[in-house]
Formats: sequence, C-alpha cells, structure tokens
Amino acid sequence: MSGEVSFLKPNAINPATQPVLTDTLQASVNAKTDQVLALLKNASGELTNITFANSFGAEDMVLTDIILKNQLAIEIFSLDTGRLPVETYDLIAETEQRYHTKLNVLFPQAQAVEFYVKTNGINAFYESIELRKSCCHMRKVEPLQRALKGKNAWVTGMRAAQATTRSSLPVREFDESNGLEKFNPLSDWSEQEVWTYIRMHNVPYNKLHDQFYPSIGCAPCTRAIAMGEDIRAGRWWWEDPTSKECGLHVK
Ligand code: SF4
Repeated sequence: MSGEVSFLKPNAINPATQPVLTDTLQASVNAKTDQVLALLKNASGELTNITFANSFGAEDMVLTDIILKNQLAIEIFSLDTGRLPVETYDLIAETEQRYHTKLNVLFPQAQAVEFYVKTNGINAFYESIELRKSCCHMRKVEPLQRALKGKNAWVTGMRAAQATTRSSLPVREFDESNGLEKFNPLSDWSEQEVWTYIRMHNVPYNKLHDQFYPSIGCAPCTRAIAMGEDIRAGRWWWEDPTSKECGLHVK
C-alpha cells in the first residue's frame, strides 16, 4: 500500500466489527479476559473507591460487560458532553436495559457552556486547537475531574495500538494530573480481539462502528474513516495526529 485510501460505499458494513471467530482467536480472547478479570479483582481488593470511565467505545463496552457480569466493586460513570451522536444515546439506553441498571451520567456545567457559546459560537471548536481544547475541557475534563474526586483509582478502556499518543500505555500507572492510580486493562488488546469479545458475548455496541466509525466521540468532531486510514483519523480530522487527545488522558 502506498498510503492511498479507498473510499467506502455508503452503508457499507465495517468488516472489523464482524471478525471470523476462529478457535485460536477465541482462546486468545478468553485468556486475555481472565487476565483482565484478575487485574480488576486484585485492584478492587487492594484499593477502595475505584471508578470506570465508560465512554461507550467498543473497548469500554467490553469492560462494562466484565465489570457488571462479575459484580466487581468498581463503579461506572459516563460523561454526556451534550454533543454526542444519537447512536450513543441509543447505546446508553440499550446498556441500561441489558444490564438492568441506571448509569451514572455526568454533564458539563451549564453556565460554562452558555458562556463559551455566547463568547465563541456554537461550533467554535473548528476554528482553532485552542478553542477545540477549551471545549473539550469544559465538556469532558471538568466533569471527569468531578467524577474522579475522592477516588483512589480509575479504569479506562484505552489500548496502546489506538493512537501514536498512546503507543507506550502501561496496564497500570500513576495518573499524576489527577492524583490517583489508573488501570488500562485492555492496553495490549488488538481491535480484532475487542470485536471478538463483543461477538462472543453479544455485548451491545454503538451502531456507528458498523459504518466505519472505529473511534466515536462528539458528533461534530467524529467522522467515518476510509479503508487504510488510521483508526483515530476520524477524530478531530482537521488537526495534527500528535495533538489529537481531548485532555482526559494527560501524561
Ligand atoms: S469533541 Fe468536539 S464537541 Fe466534544 S467536547 Fe471536544 S471539541 Fe467539544
């Protein structure tokens, strides 16, 4: 491949979300699932007040399934930025129904959003990296800081292979910016393994993934990718790849 991309037909189904479930792949996923479960059980034995940030990506749905099915002592929260795609709200409802639970959803401060919009405009995040990052701070980082207050550890669904900004992602690290332990249990999972778990366990997932949205955030800052593009290419596609984080996972 020379870096060229082939554009997709509308409504094409993403083959990455429909893996062929070979015995080898399923055995590998089962082994990795046991490791994740052991890690999370050890973490909840060692530490109190652990919380999991579920942003409803495919990886987060794997962890949601593991945590809720095994009744681990890890609470779950989510951030509603106010700009999520409708498919994500559908997934929130489906998740609550599937697991017989009500999710803990945090929202941005209304006054901060009103001030930002009044000062900069409703879609100002397209105008500069600074305005994009201040939107992410107001809609994601500040609510995250509230969610992490008083916690001893948090769990994320990040994988090392997702982005150049995540290439050296440990399973456990100390999150200095938030002052608590951070667990990334799926760090060494491949995209194929994530989707194999989802298919094996019939886990609910965001239907946008089938339409070539491998990474889903807010609707105006997420687009489908073309064959051959990086899996994070659909997030803030107008920016340089090295700056493409929202501030939730700062080193
Ligand atoms: S992803 Fe876009 S809309 Fe969402 S918080 Fe960040 S800049 Fe704002």
